Order: sequence, then C-alpha cells, then structure tokens
Amino acid sequence: MGLSLDEIKRYSRQLVLPDFGSREQNRLKNAKVAVTGAGGLGCPVSTNLTLAGVGEIVLFDMDEVDLTNLNRQFLYTPADVGKKKAELAAKRLSDLNPEINVSAVTEMITYDNAFDLLKGFDAVVDGTDNFPVRYAVNDACAVNKVPLFHGAVLMFEGRAISIIPGETACFRCIFPEAPPAGMVPTCREAGVFGSMTALIGSIQASEATRYLAGMDIGLKNTLLVINADTMDFQKINIHKREDCTACGREFIPKPVGGTVCADRIEG
Ligand SMILES: [Zn+2]
Repeated sequence: MGLSLDEIKRYSRQLVLPDFGSREQNRLKNAKVAVTGAGGLGCPVSTNLTLAGVGEIVLFDMDEVDLTNLNRQFLYTPADVGKKKAELAAKRLSDLNPEINVSAVTEMITYDNAFDLLKGFDAVVDGTDNFPVRYAVNDACAVNKVPLFHGAVLMFEGRAISIIPGETACFRCIFPEAPPAGMVPTCREAGVFGSMTALIGSIQASEATRYLAGMDIGLKNTLLVINADTMDFQKINIHKREDCTACGREFIPKPVGGTVCADRIEG
C-alpha cells in the first residue's frame, strides 16, 4: 500500500530527512504498535507516534483522568476528569492524524493476560506506572519476541532503554526482581516533573519510530539516565544475562506481587 498525495504532503518534512523516504514511511504506515499506559509517558509517546504516521496504535489504560494528572498529561483537560484516559486519548489522536487507526483497551494488564494482550504487535512502548505491570509487559514481550521501548520517570529523573528480543538485554536482565513494595516512593509521595515525562516519552517514541522505519537506534544494551537538576545524560552499558528468567535460556514465569497503584512510578 503506497502513500496518498495527502500523506506525502503531511509527512513531507520527514520524507526529506537523510536515510528516511517513502519506503521508511510505508514501514511506519504498516506498523502496529501497543502503547501501555496513557499517562505522563503515554501522552508524548502516543502523540509522537501518531504524528509520525504509525498506521495502527492501540492504547492500553484502565484509569480515569484525575485533576492531579494535568501537570503533565497534555491530552486531557479539566472537563475530562473522571473519564477513561485511553478512550479520550484515542479520540484526540485520531483527530490529530485521521490517516491512522487509534484504538483503546481499558482492560487492566496483568501477568495472566499480558502474553495474549500484547501478541501480534511490531513494537510495544511502555509507559506504565507500576512494577507488577512493568514486569508483566517485559516478560510478555520477551516470550512473544516483540521489541519493547521502556521508559520511567520519578521526581526529576528519567530512564529509557530499547529492548530487541534475541539481541539485547531486557528490563529483567538489569533488574531481575522488583524492589520490595514501599521501597520506591510513589509519584504521589515524591512528585513527578512534567517536562521529564515529555522528554523521556519523546525519546521512547524516537527509538520506536526509527526502529520501525528500519533505521539504527541508540539505546540497545544501553540504559539512558537523565537528571533534570544537572541536565546530565548518562548512558550505562548493560548486558544480556543467560540466566535471565525472561529472555535467557529458559523462561520462568515470575509475576510481581503487590497492589497495582496508579501512582507507583510514573507513567
Ligand atoms: Zn532478560
């Protein structure tokens, strides 16, 4: 399926980029991407993927808009408080780019359903806000062999990593176990800086877009840590572990317990 005249015009500023042309744009058009979480990270992630022309985007989020979300979650307004985020975001993103398909899933992702829910995607971009779901998404992507673009923000610090199954380390290679419940403060307790969610979400979207277009990406086997206090961008080399329970020799299901708190670590 080629590009229409409207699409050629809409994407003209990226079609003239070096190493990016109609072949790469068509790859984006034919891509199907899951965005887990439609919050602080999910808003910039899904907006950037929408504007770039990713053909099919499925937003997963069970939450409703709360007034406390509005310092960073720019797809929502005060009139949206109490309404389902994924459904609102899907509508707004469809308005931004009518050339693509955006849909919403308001079912909660759990360790039991993640493997089925996240099957059949070309990439998953994770902006979830809690450890049980984050590990479920990682393990599902490892087993389903779906590339995963991970991000997390708490206070003034953000992190991102790109995970390509069979090639790079996964989230569990770095952090085999979730921290004990209560060890990491929630964003309700510690706060979250809106500009950092926008920055990390844009980095995740940049990595996913380039990967889907068939271009090189910079965060394979590399954990990027950004600190807004100093504007240090630190790249930490990481390694795939053969004994990783998600992506190593043998998959061992390891659901992370604890309650799913909407404010656990921002997404
Ligand atoms: Zn691993």
